[in-house]
Amino acid sequence: MNFRLNLAWMYPDLMSTYGDRGNIIVLTKRCQWRGIEVNIKEITLETKVSELSNCDLIFMGGAQDRQQKIAGDDFLKNKGPMIKELVENSVPALFVCAAYQAVGHFYKPYQGEPIPGPGIFDLHTEHPGDQAKRLIGNVVAELISDQFDVIARSPVSKYGINSATKQSSHLIVGFENHGGRTYLGKKLQPFARVIKGGGNNGEDGYEGALYKNSIGSYFHGPLLPKNPYIADWLIAKALEKKYVAKIRLRQLDDGLEKQAHKFVSTLR
Ligand code: GLN
Repeated sequence: MNFRLNLAWMYPDLMSTYGDRGNIIVLTKRCQWRGIEVNIKEITLETKVSELSNCDLIFMGGAQDRQQKIAGDDFLKNKGPMIKELVENSVPALFVCAAYQAVGHFYKPYQGEPIPGPGIFDLHTEHPGDQAKRLIGNVVAELISDQFDVIARSPVSKYGINSATKQSSHLIVGFENHGGRTYLGKKLQPFARVIKGGGNNGEDGYEGALYKNSIGSYFHGPLLPKNPYIADWLIAKALEKKYVAKIRLRQLDDGLEKQAHKFVSTLR
């Protein structure tokens, strides 16, 4: 059986300001190295909403306030409701920084009116203006859920899906660069606890959010090359949902990724 995933890349021309396209590269290569075909669907302002209907995995990256407003208007009126339906239906997604802000109820930028969002995640974000510094720098956080323990695979099957050995990592590392402060609704689970850096708002000690199979995070870097088991979690969830089967991915040689992860995790 040939496995194939449709990967929706939201607003690549507007929301890739902080190198987040690296997450698309990682998802694509980690599938291809396992013989899983990937079809990247670039979703722009001009793309019809119907193009989203058969996507198996969603990615949306960071942006400056101006581009966030342009994409945000289209997201609220056109694509956001479909993304909300997919997320509610457990399609896996990764929303980074501005995208993480955009999936909430609103983002109040440094200047101008609040940018309303489709409320995919129960959160809101406010820029504190000149009252507080921008949150910039290396970040380290400890995951709250243990569901990211990766079931890695010995390299046997030609599809890269075979018998298991367990590996796990509970830290995520990256780089943050945001002015907005994000506040989660009472029932929305944070993604991780901050060890170093600001995270959601520099106050409550949390970073990101986890809802069904979707992750919101402030971690640029990009996130996935330095935390490849998160990429594998997203890929496995997408395959499981599409093929209605328990999926365990073949283990890859992550030597370089582990070195990058370890280097950032030791920064203090
Ligand atoms: N423009 C938003 C902010 O400054 C998001 C920035 C980003 O995506 N890195 O908070």
